[in-house]
Amino acid sequence: MQDPRSISMWMDTVEGDLSLRPPLDGDIDVDVAIVGAGYTGLWTAYYLKQADPSLRIAILEQQFAGFGASGRNGGWCSALFAASHDKIAKTSSREGVVAMQRAMFATVDEVERVIEVEGIDAQFEKAGTLIFATAPGQVERVRGEVKEARSWGFEPSDIRWLDPAEAAQLMSVNGSLGASYTPHCAALHPARLVRGLAETVEKLGVTLYENTTAKAIEPRKVTTDRGIVRAPMVVRATEGYTAQLEGMRRQLVPLYSLMIATEPLPEDVWNEIGWRRRHTMADGRHLLIYAQRTADGRIALGGRGAPYHFGSRIDADFERRPDVFAELKRVLHNLWPATRDFAITHEWGGPLGVPRDWYTSVDFDRATGLAYAGGYVGDGVSTTNLAGRTLTDLLLARESDLLRLPWVGHRSSKWEPEPLRWIGINLATRVYESADRAERNKGEPVDGRVDFLNRLIGLKNI
Ligand SMILES: Cc1cc2nc3c(=O)[nH]c(=O)nc-3n(C[C@H](O)[C@H](O)[C@H](O)COP(=O)(O)OP(=O)(O)OC[C@H]3O[C@@H](n4cnc5c(N)ncnc54)[C@H](O)[C@@H]3O)c2cc1C
Repeated sequence: MQDPRSISMWMDTVEGDLSLRPPLDGDIDVDVAIVGAGYTGLWTAYYLKQADPSLRIAILEQQFAGFGASGRNGGWCSALFAASHDKIAKTSSREGVVAMQRAMFATVDEVERVIEVEGIDAQFEKAGTLIFATAPGQVERVRGEVKEARSWGFEPSDIRWLDPAEAAQLMSVNGSLGASYTPHCAALHPARLVRGLAETVEKLGVTLYENTTAKAIEPRKVTTDRGIVRAPMVVRATEGYTAQLEGMRRQLVPLYSLMIATEPLPEDVWNEIGWRRRHTMADGRHLLIYAQRTADGRIALGGRGAPYHFGSRIDADFERRPDVFAELKRVLHNLWPATRDFAITHEWGGPLGVPRDWYTSVDFDRATGLAYAGGYVGDGVSTTNLAGRTLTDLLLARESDLLRLPWVGHRSSKWEPEPLRWIGINLATRVYESADRAERNKGEPVDGRVDFLNRLIGLKNI
C-alpha cells in the first residue's frame, strides 16, 4: 500500500486525515457494486443516490479513494473529449458531434455547480485554456484547431486565435507566436475534488471499502480478495488499471503521464510571467505538455514521453522516470526562465486508460447488469462527470438526451497482442519526440512523418 500523500503533490496538499477506510469484511448483497473509487466511480455513485436515495451502493477500491489518475492529474476540468470531431462524426452525425461537444461545455459548469452545492473546496477557477504556438512549426497546427472548430459551427466565444500581443495580455510564454483561447476550462485541485466526492457520497449513504481488490467482474458478482459482492448492477470504473482484471488485458492500455510542481512562486515572478488568472496552458508540440497555476501559487506541469511497458504492466516505479522529469524541467525553464531559481518540490505520475481507437465510451448491458465508463486518455476530469450522469440514466432506465450522445454504447476494438502493442506505442512516442525536436531546430512543421505514423497505426498524438 502506497502512502496516500506520496503519490502526488495534490494528495500531499490535501487537508485532513487520509487514513484508510475499512476493507470489505466477507460477502455482501447490494443494489449497485462499483469497482474503483476515482471520479468515474464516485460521480456515478453520487448521481445514483441523487436519483434514488434508497439504493444500496458499495464502492470497492484496491487502495484508497483518489489512488488512481483522479488523485494525480493536471487539474484541467476541460471540455476536451478524447475522440476528435471527425472520428465522432464517422460513428454518428454532424448533430452528434455538436451535441457531444455542447454536453462537454456544459459539464465544466455542472462540476462547478455540484462542488458548490456540496461544499467541496476543489479550488475551481474557470479562466479558460491557452494553447500556445511556441515554435514556427506549431502555428498552423494550433490555428488549424480554431478553424476546425469553426467548421463545426463553434463560435469565437467558444475558441479563437490570439495574436502574440493579445496572448501576452493573459500570459507571457517564451517564444510565443500566438495562442488559441477557449473559455471552456477550469483549473482545479484534483485530489481535493476526489477526496471531497468520496466524503460526499459517504454522507449520502454509499459504503466505500478501501484496500479491497476486485479480482474478477462477472454478471451480478464481483469477486474480491475480501469477499464476494453480489449486485444486479455492477459498474467497472477501473480506467488505467483495467488490464489487471481477469480477461481484460487488451481492453485499455495504461500509458503513463508524469508531472512536476514548483514550490509556491513569489508575486514578482508571477508578475514577470504575467500569468494572473489560473488559465490552464499547453502548446502545439506533438508530445503533449500541459500546465496549471495552482491556487497556492505553484506551476504544475506535466507531459507524456514515459515508455509503455510490455504486457500493459503497471508498477509504482514506472511513475518515476528521471529522464522524463528532467525533460519537464527543461520545458518549464524554457517556457518561463523566471522559474529557474525555484525548487521543484514534487515529481509524480500515473497511468491513463487508452482505448485502441482513442474513443471514450460509456455502456450498460441490461442483460448482464454490467456497466462501464472509461478510456478517457488525458481528458477525464470533466468527462467522468458526464459518465456518472449517463450511467445513472442507463442503470435506472431513465429516458434522457444524454443517452443519445454518440459515445453511449460505443465499442472500441481490443488492442493487438504483444509484442505489437509494445512496438507500436513506443515507436509512436519516439517519432513524436523526434518530430518536436526537428520542429524546434528547423523551425518548420514536420507533420508528414507524424501523419504517416498516425495513419499507419491509428494512434493520436500522445
Ligand atoms: C498525470 C496525469 C495527468 C492528467 N491530467 C488530466 C487533466 O489535466 N485533465 C483531464 O481531464 N484529465 C487528466 N488526466 C486523466 C484523468 O485524471 C482521468 O481520466 C480520470 O481521473 C479517470 O478517472 P477514473 O475514475 O475513471 O479512473 P482512476 O482515477 O484511475 O480511478 C480508478 C480507480 O480504480 C481502482 N481500481 C482499479 N482496479 C481495481 C480493482 N481491480 N479493484 C479495486 N479497485 C480498482 C484504482 O485503484 C483507482 O483508484 C490525467 C491523468 C494523469 C495520470
